[in-house]
Amino acid sequence: MDAKPAFEKIKNEIKSEVNSLKDKGIVPGLAAVVAGEDAISHTYVFFKQKDCQEVGINSEMVDLSKVNSNERESNAIRTIKELNERRNINGIIVQMPFPDFIDTEKIFDTLSPKKDVDCLTPFNLGKLLRGEYSYNDDLLPCTPRGVVELLKYYGIDVAGQDVAVIGRSVLVSNPLRKMLEDMDATATCYHTKSKNLLGKIKEADIIISAVGRPPEMHKDNSFRLTGEMVRNGAVIVGVGVRKYLKIDKLYFDVDVDSMKGIASFVTPNIGGVGLMTRAMLIKNTIIACKNLNGIK
Ligand code: NAP
Repeated sequence: MDAKPAFEKIKNEIKSEVNSLKDKGIVPGLAAVVAGEDAISHTYVFFKQKDCQEVGINSEMVDLSKVNSNERESNAIRTIKELNERRNINGIIVQMPFPDFIDTEKIFDTLSPKKDVDCLTPFNLGKLLRGEYSYNDDLLPCTPRGVVELLKYYGIDVAGQDVAVIGRSVLVSNPLRKMLEDMDATATCYHTKSKNLLGKIKEADIIISAVGRPPEMHKDNSFRLTGEMVRNGAVIVGVGVRKYLKIDKLYFDVDVDSMKGIASFVTPNIGGVGLMTRAMLIKNTIIACKNLNGIK
């Protein structure tokens, strides 16, 4: 399941949406707030800004990573309040991870749900949980939505299928489980305390791995999905990825080579779910822009 063609298709659709917004005198805008010192946060924001530039969305970054630690939380809250008010900013991303000394709950409570393009606010997550959302008009979390769009792009119908989502996070696994359930799949989240995880994986029609635990960093609960763990014809989606900072190398949940001749579909580690996540961020920015300007 190469995501590149889907990514290009979505980018082209967004470009034409941006052009029609520009005809109405509206230029969509996305702002990223970076408060962590982690170098990878800057890399992620760089790609997000590059995608925006390619489709004609204005983008800006507010870098708070050098602000004194005891002032950073109040500074972030003030910045988000200002961005909430600005008419030329339609989407705000709060680039995770935030440092431990910042109360992320306060940050998410400050962020306007209308501009919450990463779907981190309790309001948007609540709508998702209640099933009160539409793909056209609502801000859905980028990675889960990216996975759903990729499955749809490859014509994989999840209705009636048993889906094993490995992970139970509020950012990725649980929203994805809910979205798949709303598409009539039987989706279950598994985690470190799940019993007979290997048996459950072997039975699943679709397996989505969102763990990110390399053995070198997590001796006791590392995770790797290999061909021998899945049944013939299974669909495999790899979400989990972790960077070994010391050696600048990426670790992926799925051993893609071992899936050959076993899986019916598998996402590539590079050019897979990561690309779809980027596509959904720009899509969400356009949805937010149209909603804020009362355009259907
Ligand atoms: P997270 O909050 O760290 O969640 C990881 C989950 O994996 C937890 O629920 C944990 O279970 C479970 N887990 C850990 N070890 C396990 C094991 N041995 N067996 C079964 N389950 C295990 O991470 P997240 O935010 O959901 O992100 C998941 C991964 O996706 C990360 O690697 C992240 O970098 C990656 N990601 C990728 C993209 C992309 O665009 N490709 C986007 C977002 C995230 P417990 O709850 O029991 O601890």
